[in-house]
Amino acid sequence: MLARPPAFLYKKNDLCCERVPLRKLAEKFGTPLYVYSATTIRERYETLDKAFRAVPHTLCYSVKANANLSILRLLARLGAGFDIVSGGELERVRVARKSALKKIVFSGVGKTAVEMEQALRAGILVFNLESEGELEVLARCAAKLRKTANVAFRVNPDVPAETHPYISTGLREHKFGVPISAARELYRRASTHKYLHVAGVSLHIGSQITDVAPFRLAIERAVELIEQLNEDGHTIKFLDAGGGLGISYQSANPMDFADYAQRYAEAITGPFKKLGKSAPHLLLEPGRSIVGPAGALVTRVLYQKQNGNKNFTIVDAAMNDLIRPSLYGAKHEIVPIRLSNPTPPVVRADIAGPICETGDFLARDLDLPASAPGDYLCVLDAGAYGMSLASNYNTRMRAAEVLVEGTRVRLVRRRETLRDLLQTETACL
Ligand SMILES: *Cc1c(COP(=O)(O)O)cnc(C)c1O
Repeated sequence: MLARPPAFLYKKNDLCCERVPLRKLAEKFGTPLYVYSATTIRERYETLDKAFRAVPHTLCYSVKANANLSILRLLARLGAGFDIVSGGELERVRVARKSALKKIVFSGVGKTAVEMEQALRAGILVFNLESEGELEVLARCAAKLRKTANVAFRVNPDVPAETHPYISTGLREHKFGVPISAARELYRRASTHKYLHVAGVSLHIGSQITDVAPFRLAIERAVELIEQLNEDGHTIKFLDAGGGLGISYQSANPMDFADYAQRYAEAITGPFKKLGKSAPHLLLEPGRSIVGPAGALVTRVLYQKQNGNKNFTIVDAAMNDLIRPSLYGAKHEIVPIRLSNPTPPVVRADIAGPICETGDFLARDLDLPASAPGDYLCVLDAGAYGMSLASNYNTRMRAAEVLVEGTRVRLVRRRETLRDLLQTETACL
């Protein structure tokens, strides 16, 4: 049914986003270009939401996966809350939809006093604290503003999850959260502060996790903690199960998202039911699973070259546009945006960008029908952690972003200009 979201499919010989050929978008807006399907974002949000229908819950979309204001507004309209990790992300939510501020959960290991005050004034839902130090700073900020803060501790359940080491977060030796064994004492301390209100337990075990078993294990541990905290006299209103649900980056190995979301929901709500009447409101922080497959990066072939026995297709998108292949060894599927007939012979090549780093590639040893300068390629499943990690390395302007809905196209971020880029600097001396 939702095997591969219908976001990027060939119609005749043209790869389209919904009903718009990518070639048209590339010609109109230039490349590199991020293209998102609004319908896919909406469908994936709704599928996930529906999977949890048996329990009271709120999906707090993780802003860092893709922070475009139009995407935030689209999700806010569907009823989403937001998981933020900085004061900057807080302001994005405010611009996207002011009424969503009260559905914000604030995560991150290094919230500053300034950011905490900003969030207190905005009236967010809950602070997910990650250390005793943060507890003390928040207590001071809240007392100063005379505003009560709902607090949860992000506990580290010490469960291994099979993913890239850089995005695994739930092990004892990671910088995230507080050890679950230390949690009761921290909650006791939190409850002694007049302007702090103990409200929840939170966790997030990592990202791109495709096996649901670690989620179940983590929730089982959180549920044990909630029972203890209830015994200690706290009222735990929220259990925040974090994000981390992975996606398939290979269309040869598709996943039915509705079925997968259902299994994920069962893994989380199963252990949770044990709490019976005292079961808290469930919060989830999905990022990638909502926007990942809804986006693609369109790039133009600049050159074909051969060094020794190796072929290189040099394209105009680089690691500053999409760093996942370089940073995590991620393997994105890359396809031509136009199929020619007859199909040209398949050539094995590295798809690399113009940046002066050997680590600058979008794919290695990829088999693709031969392409020529001027052809366009499309990097699939680039909607999450693509644009949000883009940089200006090599003084490259960041890409434009368009949001497609049916036949409608909206430019939701114009291409950066050199002027945008240089205006914060001075040439002195
Ligand atoms: C990054 C992050 C998320 C989102 O993770 P996904 O893998 O994109 O679902 C959720 N919660 C926290 C605390 C995060 O750091």
